[in-house]
Amino acid sequence: MPRSLQRIAVFTLMLALTCVSALAADSATQAFVLPADERVYVEEFSRHVDLLEDATGQLPIDAVAQSSFTPGSLKAANVGFTSSIWWARVTLRNDGPREREIFLRQTYPLIDYLDVYEQTGPGEWKTHQTGDRRPFATRDIAHRDLVFPLHVPAEGERVIYLRYQSQGPIDISLSLFSSPELLESLSREQLAYGIYYGCVIMLLVWSSLVFIAVRDKAFLAYFAYVGTFGLYMLIHNGLAYQYLWPESPRWGNTSLVAFINIALIAGLQFSRMILRAKEVTPRLDLVARILQTVAAALLLASPFVPYATIIAPVAGLVLVGVLFMLVLGTSAMVAGSRPARFYVIAWSSFLCGSVVFLLKTFGVLPHTFFTQNGWQIGSLLEMILLSLTLSTRMNELQHQSRTDPLTLLGNRRLFDDRLPEEFAVARQEQRQLSLLVLDIDHFKSYNDRHGHARGDQAIKAVGHALRKFARKPLVACRYGGEEFTVILPGVDCQTAAVMSERLRRVIEETLHGDLAITISVGYACLARGEFGSAEQFFEAADSALYTAKQSGRNCVVAFHERAEQEQEPPVQLDARAATS
Ligand code: GH3
Ligand code: MG
Ligand code: MG
Repeated sequence: MPRSLQRIAVFTLMLALTCVSALAADSATQAFVLPADERVYVEEFSRHVDLLEDATGQLPIDAVAQSSFTPGSLKAANVGFTSSIWWARVTLRNDGPREREIFLRQTYPLIDYLDVYEQTGPGEWKTHQTGDRRPFATRDIAHRDLVFPLHVPAEGERVIYLRYQSQGPIDISLSLFSSPELLESLSREQLAYGIYYGCVIMLLVWSSLVFIAVRDKAFLAYFAYVGTFGLYMLIHNGLAYQYLWPESPRWGNTSLVAFINIALIAGLQFSRMILRAKEVTPRLDLVARILQTVAAALLLASPFVPYATIIAPVAGLVLVGVLFMLVLGTSAMVAGSRPARFYVIAWSSFLCGSVVFLLKTFGVLPHTFFTQNGWQIGSLLEMILLSLTLSTRMNELQHQSRTDPLTLLGNRRLFDDRLPEEFAVARQEQRQLSLLVLDIDHFKSYNDRHGHARGDQAIKAVGHALRKFARKPLVACRYGGEEFTVILPGVDCQTAAVMSERLRRVIEETLHGDLAITISVGYACLARGEFGSAEQFFEAADSALYTAKQSGRNCVVAFHERAEQEQEPPVQLDARAATS
């Protein structure tokens, strides 16, 4: 197709679209006809409403009824932050022979003032006045959302006007039900909320118990985050107003701002701790502290600053906070933090849930259980995944508590745990087991000659050699000071002798000249003695080490209880004799 033709085609299409939308804007939405079979279940009723913006906020209902409305759509129905009053008009028609009762539900409950006018005759209005700035008791139905029972006369129409006034965003999100459908939908919803808050409570109990047990403050920060975010959700859903403070609309509105700020502070605190931001990403840690300070300032200001003024900066801060936490998690992940992996997935799912919810609100995605509750589902996934970061952290802590920081070998605690285990297994399964105990020779004078820093370097060098030497299933530990142990599961006496000698030689060659060190090694193996316990087994190897020291050091000596009765020659390698 030639270029000019393409252009004409596009132009015509655009013209046609413009005409269609202009026509649509002029024509008012037709009355919604209640189906004859009595069942009514319209989740997305907003497309059936007409809208009118009253920027002055002064229009009385009779003037409104005379005004011309524009048809609503899902997009138009979410008008966001506005100082105008918004009017929605709904026309219901009942072709049946009996009067119908029907329930109109505003599913976003955080509307300050919502007045509903049912036209019962010319100039006659039946009004319902509620909203979250009025006491909870003003509601026709005690429910977290704003639900209005309406009556449509037989073979007639009823026009209903809804007047929305709010300092927060105005989301005209309406649904229409007959009573059995309302009941069914409420009970499904109740189950979903039960699962959500049940999980939140479970996570709170779990984290508090673990905190009491291990005293790691990251669990406390997690508890604070889940607790305050859970409360925020309770407020956001309208449940807090219904059950916690139905008489306090003022606090009901302030609490929303207060708790999202506390949740942000706690979430950032948890992130800083779990990702060790101060050490790993100090600059981002500074940013986190700045965000926390801003959130604290907004929190302190919230009782004094009008809701309309404070809500926008708070929403902005939360958005920046969530994006920042993703950046922080990614940086920590790049730096090799293990908990960061779960952390990043956690915040991504939170963000995905929020995006899905927003896309639904702006009419891009259809209204389904998952899109409507996307944010809630995302936040639950996030909290569960964040608890996994804590589990990873626990593993790390446990690993740390059993690691010697200087040599990165196992420490005494690990040795004391592992030796009895390996001893019991070897006994039970009739397997070989050997144990080396080694000690640096004349280390006191080494320290005196070269200083402690050089002494530490020498200990590190031994640690490095041992880590290379003791691959799994061998377990090398720093027993204390300049004394080390190696557990050798499945290794018999001869092999232990050869390995000990190899180790002795490696260490002898590790450092050079004046800085060179030597070790003495004592070893024991299960086959060469009657060992009643792991302690006795260790004492045997230790006594062999003592013998090695007595015999002039830099050598390997076996513990040999029954040397005389045995056929094979006693293994007592004098290193210098063996190498010369
Ligand atoms: P021997 O050959 O009999 O083992 O002699 P030794 O001097 O090595 O024995 P001794 O056990 O008397 O001295 C051990 C020294 O090791 C004493 C202590 O100052 C030093 N030491 C222990 N732990 C460390 C450490 O972490 N760093 C440094 N630099 N020195 C340590
Ligand atoms: Mg020593
Ligand atoms: Mg010693």
